[in-house]
Amino acid sequence: MIREVADEVIARGESSRRAAPDPVNVPMVRHWVEALGDSNPVYTDPVAAAESVHGGLVAPPAMAQVWTMFGLRGTRPADDPLGAMVSVLDEAGFTSVVATNCEQTYHRYLRPGDEVTVGARLTEVVGPKRTALGEGWFVTTVSTWYVGDEPVAEMLFRVLKFRPPVEEPVGEVLRPVVSLDTEFFWAGTRRGELRIQKCVACGEVRHPPGPMCAACGSTELTYVVAQGVGEVYSFVVHHHPPMPGKRLPFVVALVELAEGVRLLAELIDADSADVRVGLPVRVDFQRIDDELTLPVWRVRS
Ligand SMILES: [Zn+2]
Repeated sequence: MIREVADEVIARGESSRRAAPDPVNVPMVRHWVEALGDSNPVYTDPVAAAESVHGGLVAPPAMAQVWTMFGLRGTRPADDPLGAMVSVLDEAGFTSVVATNCEQTYHRYLRPGDEVTVGARLTEVVGPKRTALGEGWFVTTVSTWYVGDEPVAEMLFRVLKFRPPVEEPVGEVLRPVVSLDTEFFWAGTRRGELRIQKCVACGEVRHPPGPMCAACGSTELTYVVAQGVGEVYSFVVHHHPPMPGKRLPFVVALVELAEGVRLLAELIDADSADVRVGLPVRVDFQRIDDELTLPVWRVRS
């Protein structure tokens, strides 16, 4: 499949050319040379540039790629060859990427007012290869920048798309601090019950538990056993840093229970890409040892 898509995209040749949003211009050049600390006056000083071999202002050749960047919210065109290879490799599990080579060739200096376009073609896909990062494919594209039909710059860009090795969990899971106020909750999970604190005086349910009812101030508290069904109210996908006893990434979900309180626990057996607010879940219990059983969420179908 990877090979077939690669051959097809290579045979397609260069993508349609995409125009830079702005012509080559001095303000963008000024920001770029300031950021890089390049004080050559041929880029920003019209008088010095006029006296130079260029006879006027030019843009730094290494800015070639800058003119045609997508911007923060840009999207790759449908015929972008790197985009096509990235999606087929992602689907095959080669989800991580690292750039390995970038070689630029400049044919001439760009000048303010030049209208730049760019086209890209896939030239080579090599793999699968074993690397120190994991098994992967080397994908090489060549981008060419044009003014009119004149090629002004080229870039060979090679990435390694690799399958990240599965890291086995290390160490023991973190244990909750069990206090007088939360003891009943953890006694419940050991028995497969999700216990929610309830005020004897006014009937208010709440989580996390505390020593006093927040609604009426009563210290006479009991609990109800929740049905254990709810919906994801909010969630995070934890990618980093590594956590003892956990395989990354994992999902931590704040779930709103049918009883009206919200509880935080790990959502297991769900692809992090499929998790969304409103996802129906039910509680399950993950026994760690005789003392500790953690509540976890599972997707409810
Ligand atoms: Zn109360």
